[in-house]
Amino acid sequence: MMKYILTGAGIASMACFVACNQGQKSTDTQQATPDAVAANVDSTVNPAQDFFDYANGGWIKRNPIPAEYSSWGIGNLVQEELYKRLRTINEKAVENPTDATSKKIAAFWKSGMDSVKINADGIKPIEEELKAIDAAANISQLVQLTAKSHNVSLCSFYIGQDAKNSELMLVQFGQGGIGLPNRDYYFNTDDRTAKIRNAYPAHVAKMLQFTGMDSTTAKKAAAEVVALETILAKSSRKLEALRDPEANYHKMAVTQLNKIAGNVDWVDFIKQQGITKFADTVIVGQPEFFTTLSNTLKSQSLATWKNYAKWHLINSAASTLSDTIANTDFAFYGTLMRGQDKQKPRWKRVLDAEEGAIGEALGQLFAKEFFNAAAKKRYENLVEEIRGELKTRIEHLDWMSDSTKQKALYKLSKITKKVGYPDKWKDFSAMDIKDQSYYENVRAAERWWLNYQIAKLGKPVDRTEWDMTPQTYNAYYNPSNNEIVLPAGIFTVPGKRDEELDDAVVYGYAGASTIGHEITHGFDDEGRQFDAAGNLKSWWTKEDEKKFNDRAAVMVKQFDGYVVVDSLHINGKATLGENIADLGGILLGWEAFKKTEQYKKNEKIAGYTPAQRYFMGYALGWLSHTKKEALAKQLLTDVHSPAKYRVNGPFSDVDAFYEVYGLKPGDGMYRADSTRVRIW
Ligand SMILES: [Zn+2]
Repeated sequence: MMKYILTGAGIASMACFVACNQGQKSTDTQQATPDAVAANVDSTVNPAQDFFDYANGGWIKRNPIPAEYSSWGIGNLVQEELYKRLRTINEKAVENPTDATSKKIAAFWKSGMDSVKINADGIKPIEEELKAIDAAANISQLVQLTAKSHNVSLCSFYIGQDAKNSELMLVQFGQGGIGLPNRDYYFNTDDRTAKIRNAYPAHVAKMLQFTGMDSTTAKKAAAEVVALETILAKSSRKLEALRDPEANYHKMAVTQLNKIAGNVDWVDFIKQQGITKFADTVIVGQPEFFTTLSNTLKSQSLATWKNYAKWHLINSAASTLSDTIANTDFAFYGTLMRGQDKQKPRWKRVLDAEEGAIGEALGQLFAKEFFNAAAKKRYENLVEEIRGELKTRIEHLDWMSDSTKQKALYKLSKITKKVGYPDKWKDFSAMDIKDQSYYENVRAAERWWLNYQIAKLGKPVDRTEWDMTPQTYNAYYNPSNNEIVLPAGIFTVPGKRDEELDDAVVYGYAGASTIGHEITHGFDDEGRQFDAAGNLKSWWTKEDEKKFNDRAAVMVKQFDGYVVVDSLHINGKATLGENIADLGGILLGWEAFKKTEQYKKNEKIAGYTPAQRYFMGYALGWLSHTKKEALAKQLLTDVHSPAKYRVNGPFSDVDAFYEVYGLKPGDGMYRADSTRVRIW
């Protein structure tokens, strides 16, 4: 339940609060940088007609999407700053590695930047693994290989909290094993999706040729691999179905999994991952997928499965291999699927990979420098203000019974807040990054992360842990810990020091779109099914549950109605949790803002009233635009609505917005009172 979906490892950012603008502090306000929100407005658009285009349209017109990106916006501006600073840190580490961590940073950077070696190596880094695939004598051996190498995944496999007992870490299995982003790509009939599907076999064939196949063999192999994946896709659940926590929870003895999917020895599969203890009980998300996977292991030939394994191996390794291979990969997944005209420069791609590998070590340096105690305190206080507003709103809900209210209030009081950066840092000393190929360094990091997960089995849950780095431009709610996690990076407004931002902007940008959003996740259609201790356990009366669902259904209908690109519309069910969180965040931020001095004084800044600036501040959080290709992909694979609808959608449900901007029937943003969503 993130604020955004992460499209690659690199949606990180730096907390640019005080230090990064040091030296630029001007005492003459006339020379200050443009106003944080006024500068983005397109005054030719009527805010009542299309608020997103009004608030952000000026900036969007002036800032086209660069060729190497599929979207461009505020997160990218923050990221660009971060890239420059990270590059310096890496280069300094190469020049003068001072400790074990900086040696690892230096080795990772050097191996990734050494394009001469990477291009000369070609396929070499994965040659041993390709040979091992060829040498498998039967299906069992091949399955064993996939479990051991971690580079080919037949399914998803991870260690996580038991949804019904948050004190327990367990092995978890889920659907997976396909090369297109999700099952819909194999079946949807719209032109865009069909075009991608039709190009897919040729792409698989090209990649298989790099493994040493001639073109005729590769073409035939690719057709068989895609047919195999289509069988797996058919047994995979849709995006919205994966959001039902009860329906995706099947706790069983591992021997039971052997009964459901008997062509794999799952005890051995787990052992091959490196797990020797505490794995007698597992959680299987989608049992029917595993039955199909098992049947397919028998119905398809060993030769087809070997080709499948080779394709998935080179597909997962492509970004670390030669330019020829990486560019072929990019032409399909970058250009065709996401509309990127060219690749990011190598140094940025290496930094993206480094963020995924060892990002928290870099974050430690950043937190020290760029998120001071005052900033941490400001946003911790804001969390408490927002929590207080939700308390008041729950107490006054007219549709919920007192007994459910008491439990909701208890859950709210128990939400843990994590702000800025972790109190305890991960120890990367065992990560085997050294002078070796880039591929090997990336794999060493992946192995470290798997071992890190495995080490959690049989131990008490560490609730101090962070799943995002401090420099990340994102945030999340974790229902199993009943916690909101707010990295320093998400509070950054590019080019502004924190103290330059007026409360209106801060309450909209941070209070509503981040803090209020994440807190509301604890009470969205999915989060509300977890109790105060983080267990999947209903605390609702039947009547209250029905009333909640009726209200949520109004929101599903509202968002289903937004057509975004061609004939493709938002998936109201799949995006419901995020849309509820957005609406809740705006209402909570607004109530909190009304108590500030700025709101009460009602003085204009840069020509806008405090109330107007609040809504503009929220829209600033979604300042971005996206290529059509990437929008289409987002509609199929992302539980978040596109940026424009994260502003215009919930604003259309907020009475205060109608008052501030004087909306009338017939305006683009207007919805009749009876069709406005009212939940929290
Ligand atoms: Zn969210």
